[in-house]
Amino acid sequence: MKRLRTDILILGAGGAGLFAALHAKQTAPDLDVTIAVKGQLGKCGCTRMVQGGYNVAIAPEDSIERHFMDTIEGGQWLNDQDLAWTLVTVARERIRELENELGCFFDRNPDGTIHQKAFAGQTFDRTVHKGDLTGIEIVNRLAEQVWARDVRRLEEHRAIELIKSRDGAQIAGVLMIDMRSGEFVLVEARAVLLATGGGPTMYRYHTPSGDKSCDGMAMALRAGLPLRDMEMVQFHPTGLLAGEDTRMTGTVLEEGLRGAGGYLLDGAGERFMPRYDARAERATRDIVSRAMFEEMRRGRTTPLGGLYIEMKHLGPERVRRDFKGMVERCADCGFDLAGGRVEVVPTAHYMMGGVEFKADCATELVGLYAAGEDTGGVHGANRLGGNGVANSTVFGGIAGAAMARWVAAGAAWAEADAAAIDAATERARVPLGARPDPGALPAIRERLWDTMWHDVGIIRDGDGLSRAADALDAIERDLDVVTVANEQDLTFNLTWHDWLNLKSLVQVSRAVRMAAAERQNSCGAHYRSDYDAAADPLVASYTRVRLGSDGPDVTWGRVAFSRVKPGESLLGQAA
Ligand SMILES: Cc1cc2nc3c(=O)[nH]c(=O)nc-3n(C[C@H](O)[C@H](O)[C@H](O)COP(=O)(O)OP(=O)(O)OC[C@H]3O[C@@H](n4cnc5c(N)ncnc54)[C@H](O)[C@@H]3O)c2cc1C
Repeated sequence: MKRLRTDILILGAGGAGLFAALHAKQTAPDLDVTIAVKGQLGKCGCTRMVQGGYNVAIAPEDSIERHFMDTIEGGQWLNDQDLAWTLVTVARERIRELENELGCFFDRNPDGTIHQKAFAGQTFDRTVHKGDLTGIEIVNRLAEQVWARDVRRLEEHRAIELIKSRDGAQIAGVLMIDMRSGEFVLVEARAVLLATGGGPTMYRYHTPSGDKSCDGMAMALRAGLPLRDMEMVQFHPTGLLAGEDTRMTGTVLEEGLRGAGGYLLDGAGERFMPRYDARAERATRDIVSRAMFEEMRRGRTTPLGGLYIEMKHLGPERVRRDFKGMVERCADCGFDLAGGRVEVVPTAHYMMGGVEFKADCATELVGLYAAGEDTGGVHGANRLGGNGVANSTVFGGIAGAAMARWVAAGAAWAEADAAAIDAATERARVPLGARPDPGALPAIRERLWDTMWHDVGIIRDGDGLSRAADALDAIERDLDVVTVANEQDLTFNLTWHDWLNLKSLVQVSRAVRMAAAERQNSCGAHYRSDYDAAADPLVASYTRVRLGSDGPDVTWGRVAFSRVKPGESLLGQAA
């Protein structure tokens, strides 16, 4: 097997991975830093897809305390408060770094200050943006800076297993597949960052990029690490509904549309959100998605089975100017966003849950760090729009610097556990054989999508969650007996990778389902129709799923209100 050695190995090239590389190099320029990524650097992941923007308290009338309180209240008091505090404070440094050091151009007001727009669930308009295509600006500038530095790139390299040392005490490296050849590659490293960006693509309607299939979380589970808040899956209310035959279905129409005053209408053209929440369309994503799901269940739907978003009352010219990207995206699918109505459906967008991590992004496994959407704890039960890219860039930078310090302080390479490498290689080879039937996978994927959408989705109950347990078992059994690729034909064999994607997704779906079954109350993004009483924030506890030798297990952790207690506020103390 091909083997490479590096000081720091970063898995993923979104906001978290790219920032980690830059900060690692800044902290210890002589270290060898490698980024391994499933796609091409600068062209994949969800940071590039960020439309709306980046939350940061930089306006004089705003404050980090206010941003913090919005984040905690949005998260239903389930957040790790110290991590949330780091998010809101370091975001101020990051946005300056993005503008002044990396060269991002964000939209500005006539007086030259940075323009900040409204996003739902916030008490202040604090979302910094570049039109409605903010992620392209951020990732292009970040990627240029990484290219300009001495960072080794392993593009189209898919991580498949975290390999520990022989005694299991620390990380030794990562087993990968070079997707261009199908070859297995072991990259040994003194520190590894998990920044593969989660991604709830196990749901019928979903927004994330096609390269995201929860690989990082699945690898973390198999490495025995705890994942917290896995039941908290965020649905974005306005996924485009353009029919079954297009990948555009499920892609997101940004939150700023509702923030700016867009209306949601049922199939008969009536506005329904004021019946559900005083903030109407500007309520948080969980509330709006649930209301939409209810309306859809009542059957007052559009021709394609969803609902409408309408913007024309704001003036078509203004909509065309302020939401150029969205207007063009809708036009590509035959809809007139500026002057007509667009069919939409709630779409799985983000996982608040993920790997438990500490303030410096270290995990329980020595030498393994985690940042960005692979992690849990920052957002609690619900993420505010605009806090996602802040999360990945803030913690990616922190992780890069922490790994560099850790390695520079003398962390050594460990000898990789050969048996673990063999076992992981075997697992990945399961669907290879002489008589491939690549056509078997779409039906399995459909079953996964339906199971998760209907039984582990926006509205859950005990019966559905039990049904889902059986369905996931059956899906996994069927996955394990299909043959999808020929051993001789592994060069860019996307069907093989599709099988690997599904394996990760099923494993993580089980964790989501188990945590959802365990939480017998309703909180943020998790809503149980059989336990619809809201969780008591004063005794807020989070789920923790871990894969032990007897299979997965869920335990509870108590939230420490380290900065503010439910019912109190930091705002009185704001500077
Ligand atoms: C359509 C859309 C719009 C969004 N809009 C906003 C917004 O306006 N504001 C906001 O704050 N947030 C937004 N988000 C969320 C935001 O994009 C994410 O929270 C954040 O960018 C995640 O960053 P990340 O670095 O953790 O992951 P990503 O940027 O997704 O990067 C993950 C990387 O890991 C790689 N990878 C995956 N699996 C493997 C593997 N097995 N091996 C190696 N590499 C792997 C991927 O190829 C990719 O390079 C949006 C998300 C989407 C999908």
